[in-house]
Amino acid sequence: MEWKGRRGSRNVEDRRGMGGKTLVGGGLGGIVIVLLVMFLGGDPGDILSNLSTSPANTEYVETEQDKELAEFVSVVLADTEEVWKEIFEQEGMVYREPILVLYSGSVQSACGMAGAAVGPFYCPADERLYIDLSFYDELQTQFKAPGDFAMAYVIAHEVGHHVQKLLGTTEEMARIRRQVSEEEYNKYSVRLELQADYLAGVWAHHAQGMGVLEKGDLEEALNAASAVGDDTIQKRARGYVVPESFTHGTSEQRKAWFYRGFEAGNLDEGDTFSAGNL
Ligand SMILES: [Zn+2]
Repeated sequence: MEWKGRRGSRNVEDRRGMGGKTLVGGGLGGIVIVLLVMFLGGDPGDILSNLSTSPANTEYVETEQDKELAEFVSVVLADTEEVWKEIFEQEGMVYREPILVLYSGSVQSACGMAGAAVGPFYCPADERLYIDLSFYDELQTQFKAPGDFAMAYVIAHEVGHHVQKLLGTTEEMARIRRQVSEEEYNKYSVRLELQADYLAGVWAHHAQGMGVLEKGDLEEALNAASAVGDDTIQKRARGYVVPESFTHGTSEQRKAWFYRGFEAGNLDEGDTFSAGNL
């Protein structure tokens, strides 16, 4: 992706090196997990449990790679702001820009305390995206999804969750979550996540329109979408898959919905909840 020297977003909050320790003394009594939407699978409860085990504030030294990545992330965020502002305007709505928090190690969000192991996530309660830049290396080594556009897809997916919050989908999901069993809810979760992939694709469509996509970028995103599919992750982690436990969709589904958004470039084709066959 062409990004060097381009405008960055003013909505980046740099908390690297701060740890999550500022709020540790305050206790978590008043914090309620509304609905935490993570890039990868996982139980929001795990995040809170990280609190007692998260290491004390360790010093953070910015590497050259991180410096570059932080700039990159900021440019991608600025691009998403532009695209979603325009799409929302066309729909007669106003786009409220989210804040992107860069952190290292652990971070406090309105959805609870998170460690880096959680992966990038969006917290609807404070409308912030949380990203530990070390995830870029993880994408490359653990998920075999290298490339700047793989990372751009991750950010665009989290922004997709923010779009869902603004559209009221997140709230509706929280309501459903209180009413159905965990296994039943997983099916809704898959649809929510695939829609975030679709919305990431919508953004990529416009990035292409702006002429900032480079050869191979689309493939990087599709490869990343495939790499984070539930079946692929489960197969690697335990050697078999448990479809009932899927929360994000299979590799095939994630790729397909990203691509569908990429082709459409608008909200029209993105109703994963009504789609009979995902
Ligand atoms: Zn997600």
